[in-house]
Amino acid sequence: MKVLVVEDEVRLAEAVQRGLAAEGMSVDIVHNGVDGLWAATEHPYDVIVLDIMLPRLSGYRVVEELRERGIWTPVLMLTAKDGEHDQVDAFDLGADDYLTKPFSFLVLIARLRALMRRGAPERPVVQAAGDLTLDPARRRVARGGVEIALTPREFGLLEFLIRHRGDVVTKPQILAGVWDSAYDGDPNVVEVYVGYLRRKIDVPFDRHAIETVRGMGYRLADDGG
Ligand code: CA
Repeated sequence: MKVLVVEDEVRLAEAVQRGLAAEGMSVDIVHNGVDGLWAATEHPYDVIVLDIMLPRLSGYRVVEELRERGIWTPVLMLTAKDGEHDQVDAFDLGADDYLTKPFSFLVLIARLRALMRRGAPERPVVQAAGDLTLDPARRRVARGGVEIALTPREFGLLEFLIRHRGDVVTKPQILAGVWDSAYDGDPNVVEVYVGYLRRKIDVPFDRHAIETVRGMGYRLADDGG
């Protein structure tokens, strides 16, 4: 069992290392977020213990960046007692569990063992329509292996269309699925964004993936057009 501990309080980090080593785990410690991100990217760990308040790069940013890179090692975050940081934030960003400082060592061990048993969470699967691919975990889109840069909204729209590939989706369905539920602006924004998307995923490749179904909505071709 290999554990990475990212904690800038040196004495706490060393105490954790000794304790986990006594349980037969192999433990590396680093003392700032940048080193933590590097270590977690370069070496395979079974689990990562990650403090939130870290020099150079916060624990939030570390876990967010790891998930963006497609690294799904389970993360247990250490949160401050004062509640300055909400554990909800940690979960939102991709942490798997959290522990509030000061914590009981026995609880830490139990939680780590539970995380290791559970293993890395399954990463979201890459969606494909023919040679058009969308990787939700890495937030990448490609056509025939050629990477396409999309804005977050364009990405969200393509993700919606590709999940419903082969089916007609209406403008209200697209609005509800891609824009905030509170969005009450012009519904023609869908049309505008479909246009942007076509100019990126279809036009340069001389393809027609997004079909306008008159009076109904849009359909992304199963085979990518
Ligand atoms: Ca700290």
